[in-house]
Amino acid sequence: MRNNHEELSGGRRIVLIVDDEEINRELLGAIIGAEFDVVFARDGGEALEIIRRRGASLSLVMLDLLMPGVHGAEVLRVMKEEDILAHLPVIVLTSETSSEVECLRLGASDFISKPYNMPEVILARVRRTIELYEDRSIIRGTERDPVTGLYNIEYFYRYAEQFELRHPDAVTDAAVVDINHFHLINERYGKAKGDAMLRRVGEKILAEVSPLKGMVCRRGSDTFLIYSPHGLDFGRIMENAASTVEGRDGGESAETVHLRMGVYACCDKDMDIERRFDRAKLAADTVRGSYRRRLAYYDESLHDREMYELSLIDDMPRALREGQFRVNYQPKYRISGDEPVLASAEALIRWEHPDMGMIPPGVFVPLFENNGMISSLDSYVWHEAAAQMMRWKRRYGFTVPVSVNVSRIDLYDPGLYGDLRAVLDESGADPSDLMLEVTESAYADDSDQIVRAVTALRDMGFKVEMDDFGSGYSSLSMLSILPVDILKMDMRFIQGGRGGERLLRLIIDIAGQLGIPAVAEGVETAQQVSLLKSLGCDIIQGYYFSKPVSADEFEGFIKERIKQC
Ligand code: C2E
Ligand code: MG
Ligand code: MG
Repeated sequence: MRNNHEELSGGRRIVLIVDDEEINRELLGAIIGAEFDVVFARDGGEALEIIRRRGASLSLVMLDLLMPGVHGAEVLRVMKEEDILAHLPVIVLTSETSSEVECLRLGASDFISKPYNMPEVILARVRRTIELYEDRSIIRGTERDPVTGLYNIEYFYRYAEQFELRHPDAVTDAAVVDINHFHLINERYGKAKGDAMLRRVGEKILAEVSPLKGMVCRRGSDTFLIYSPHGLDFGRIMENAASTVEGRDGGESAETVHLRMGVYACCDKDMDIERRFDRAKLAADTVRGSYRRRLAYYDESLHDREMYELSLIDDMPRALREGQFRVNYQPKYRISGDEPVLASAEALIRWEHPDMGMIPPGVFVPLFENNGMISSLDSYVWHEAAAQMMRWKRRYGFTVPVSVNVSRIDLYDPGLYGDLRAVLDESGADPSDLMLEVTESAYADDSDQIVRAVTALRDMGFKVEMDDFGSGYSSLSMLSILPVDILKMDMRFIQGGRGGERLLRLIIDIAGQLGIPAVAEGVETAQQVSLLKSLGCDIIQGYYFSKPVSADEFEGFIKERIKQC
């Protein structure tokens, strides 16, 4: 694989020459200018200003020591103090050898003595210093992803930024390629096959991107980023990359693995590099789950959505402080007896936004999962729901167990256990009355980590309910190794999709064999209720009984339950 570092820096490196004497600047400029772009400063103050402004676009400073005003040694001192010397080398220009040692002590990399009578030597030393520094900074980190040989994300962003500085007028595109369900390849065929697939995709993309002097990196396990001067044929890149994963040369992955790509073309130059890729990702996500379309561009409508989402993110902390988030409760009924009986409730969050009205969780939960804010929101719901459960207990003399949703993001948070402990301590609730709903797709994420977290929660006494079972891609056989207490089936089975009745029967049977209750949600009709009953489903949640309602309204169900006793 080629080293695209050189390609990228196609623009010449920039050297700053600092000298108060014009003749010296001109002489040195002429020598250096043969190979580098040169900028000049007439004194130390101007030099510092340029260094701060141009940052990483500079490759070297050549610094005269004796200058009126801010002198060279002072410039070095400031650069050292501000940690600029770590990435920008300085060659000191001296006429007296006695100051050399002092300069090296101050952090200069090398010195060149005046007068400049050996241009070749000077050029060689400049070249060498720059190379040394670039190598050194590259060696400091591992520049490449060991699996694909592409850049890793840190270097990719860094080089993209350097490219921008060197080519401020270039029109550029940012693109994201995602492999859907990649974890399945690792799980089913082993890591070696998974790695081989990643390598093939990386190679295909690089082959298309390199001629335009673009760059590619891998981010996370299965995402590739492309940054390139405008003009790539993204459709063709997708064709080529897809041909290597979609079963044509391996056979095994045809049904499950697909690529999707999002492109943010002609990037806004004022925007951070990372945000440009957020836009490309946003576009890619619009074709998630579509087998027909796999390439999408960032456009106006996405821009509007992005702005809407940003405003929700901005508003969230205040909304949390001001109690705009309300917890609603939806009853779950046990249907095994003659009469349905209230069994428990699910706590579901809503946002009553002062300007935008009621916002459902489907809009903001994924957003807050992406930026980590979900943890504080979930924590709020858990505290609230546990306190509510205990209020009902005090008022009516019995416990309505409440289930709360736990985002997969929470399961990676080491603060989770302490927070849930606090929920129990503050409310006095029994952990076995608090059910934690973990969505099935979480288990597919990184099953080892999730299984560990879920096991720890069960050890604390909580009941864990697997939410939306069947919506993701974990196989039925996985169930036997997953630590769960309750199985909640994905709504689509009940509502007739996804092989409907046959799969319902199968899942309910498996739950029975595992000795755990099966819960059906999204149940809307009497017909569905009787079917589920005949299949041996234990608990039902859905509009048939009630929509999620406020805590006050929910008390109606509790009173009814009391009458049944
Ligand atoms: P979920 O946990 O699977 O919740 C069930 C969703 O199905 C709820 O939507 C509920 O209102 C809806 N539903 C219930 N019965 C029926 C029915 O008969 N028909 C139909 N069509 N829908 C029904 P909701 O409240 O909009 O929540 C959507 C998702 O948002 C939840 O899915 C859950 O994944 C997430 N969510 C809700 N509250 C929280 C929360 O506090 N924390 C986290 N992390 N996620 C939450
Ligand atoms: Mg749920
Ligand atoms: Mg669900």
